[in-house]
Amino acid sequence: MREFPDRGPCLSKTTIRMKTHEFDTTGISIIPDFLASARRQPWRWVLPIILVLLFLFIVIWLPWQAQHMESNEKQEQLIADTLWVEQAIRFQLRRDEELIKTVGNEIEADTMTPEKFRSRLLSVVSSNGEFLSIDWLDADDHVVSSTSTNHLADPIGSSRPTLLSARQKKSAQYAPLHAEKTDGNAHIAYFLPLFASNQYIGTIVASYSPTGILNELVPWWVAHDNEIAILDADDVEIARRSSGGPGRNVYTHRHELDLPGAGLVLRANSVKGAPRVLPGLLVGSVIALSLGLLWSLGALWRDINRRLATEGALRQQVAFQTAMENSLVTGLRARDLEGRVTYVNPAFCRMVGLSASDLVGRRPPMPYWAPEAMGEYQQRISELLAGTVTPDGFHTIFQRSNGERFPVLIFESPLVDDVGQQTGWMGSILDISDRQRAEDINRQQQEKLQSSARLAAMGEIASTLAHELNQPLAAISSYLTGALNMIEGDKTVEAIPLTENVKPAIEKASAQTQRAGHIIRSVHSFIKRRETSKIEVDLKELIDRVTPLIELQAQRKFVTVKKTIPDYLPTISADPTLLEQVLLNLTRNAIDAMEEASAEKRILRIEAYSNDNSINPGVTVAVIDQGSGISKEVETKLFSPFFSTKADGMGMGLNICRTAVEAHGGTLSFVPNPDGGTIFSFSLPAN
Ligand code: ADP
Repeated sequence: MREFPDRGPCLSKTTIRMKTHEFDTTGISIIPDFLASARRQPWRWVLPIILVLLFLFIVIWLPWQAQHMESNEKQEQLIADTLWVEQAIRFQLRRDEELIKTVGNEIEADTMTPEKFRSRLLSVVSSNGEFLSIDWLDADDHVVSSTSTNHLADPIGSSRPTLLSARQKKSAQYAPLHAEKTDGNAHIAYFLPLFASNQYIGTIVASYSPTGILNELVPWWVAHDNEIAILDADDVEIARRSSGGPGRNVYTHRHELDLPGAGLVLRANSVKGAPRVLPGLLVGSVIALSLGLLWSLGALWRDINRRLATEGALRQQVAFQTAMENSLVTGLRARDLEGRVTYVNPAFCRMVGLSASDLVGRRPPMPYWAPEAMGEYQQRISELLAGTVTPDGFHTIFQRSNGERFPVLIFESPLVDDVGQQTGWMGSILDISDRQRAEDINRQQQEKLQSSARLAAMGEIASTLAHELNQPLAAISSYLTGALNMIEGDKTVEAIPLTENVKPAIEKASAQTQRAGHIIRSVHSFIKRRETSKIEVDLKELIDRVTPLIELQAQRKFVTVKKTIPDYLPTISADPTLLEQVLLNLTRNAIDAMEEASAEKRILRIEAYSNDNSINPGVTVAVIDQGSGISKEVETKLFSPFFSTKADGMGMGLNICRTAVEAHGGTLSFVPNPDGGTIFSFSLPAN
């Protein structure tokens, strides 16, 4: 047998297994779905991680690359500047060489006098800052003429080997001279050997100031950015110009000064330091942006995880709800505030034999309403929409799509949304046909049991009566036999007058008769079990009290109960239990009589009215059915005890009813109903 919850849908606490999840019915997931899905799709995060790493790599690599490029650019610039300076120096020194050679040629041609030499070259020396002096030496190295007034005592100095080499090679040569090696003025000597008729006749010695060369021949913008120095063959610095500050040794370049024999090197050392990776603000912004990006990625990650978790939980919830919905035996039906159906669960669809699409969106009247109970449904729905729902639920009947009626128990409750606003009504509907069938069987068995118990009790009573009455009846019989014998003239009692003899026997027989009557009364009072106790009864209240019981019986047979009772009825003095019994008997007979009737005729009416104006003022209650009616032959036996046309009938109901009504001074009668069926009514006198 199926088990029904007392009211509303309820779930037992069991574990339901679904496709991929395990739940217990409290709705808490044991294995979160999103974790399982993360385990299934670990690659989902691979692409974002690769992109983030790529971004970080580019952010780090780009400034480094920029610095590298800038560094290269500066180095290249420095090289270009150095070459430019070297070219400029060489170009100027070549021009100077040309000039000196022209003068040398004139000396060799003997067209040059010392005065001419001096006057001609003095202007050259004074206008070209690179020159310290230009001296004309004879073959014995004595000064013939000089641009300097206090010319060097020994303009050759430590460069004599260079001079000798120049004489030998008959070509001009340069020689560097250090301050330490000379008189304190570092200079570069240029020796032009002079030959006349292949005879060495002297030398022109031009002394260059390395500092002068740098000051005169290095353009200011190169000097501003670089420390320019001239180094000798031993890498010793002999002159330096650094108007822009000392070199930082970051960008340096050396280039040989192409002066034959001098072995001089031009060195440029940039005053600029290594480029910074990125300017502070830019670095700050990049770092801030990177941090922001990382943070937003983290936030995104967390958000996605949260969303996944929520989505997983939601999916579980939906799956759980669907599983719950599908496994529910209770029908669920939601309606909006206008009574339109907004949701039905599968159990409800199965119950009424209609699909959800047939029901959702429908307004009353519903396709599952039985036509004979339309009035009741309408009344209930208007009560519901007015907000007067009873939490205890109510019984009614519904109709399946094939026309079959079935009893249902309905609980309505307000449907409230997440902000606490009522959006409609939720109804839980239980199909109680099975339960009713079970109850019917149970009741029938109970009745059979009671009937057999009553029959057994009756048998017992009968045997008690027989036993108890046996003695007085035997005694009566023997007394009366004796009396008869006496009357017929028994010889043995001749002397005694007849009346004298018969009287005691008759008296004793009478006493025994009284005793037999007493026995019957005591057995009767034993059978009655209880005395009637009358109290003041309001019949309307009494009828209302038994109505649920009547309705219960009626619903089992799909009969609708309609009552017409005025608000005021005179009170009566009665035993309410007996009157309830009478009403229940009459209504039960009426419901039974409508068993074969068509659905629209199954209406049981209970009407009550007062008979104030009649000779016997009181109250009448009528039980009206549209059933089979009472045939002529049944009519005569109707109130006879044990008369019944029902297979399981006792036939005591009407008999007891009449006795009970008459015990209250009332009458019980019946007439045929003009609409078919019978009207049973009983009248009771008012107080
Ligand atoms: P029971 O109900 O056990 O049969 P009752 O004494 O109550 O005993 O009824 C006796 C018989 O009277 C019933 O079997 C039925 O045939 C008939 N009867 C009673 N009430 C009605 C009614 N309203 N319509 C038709 N027949 C009825």
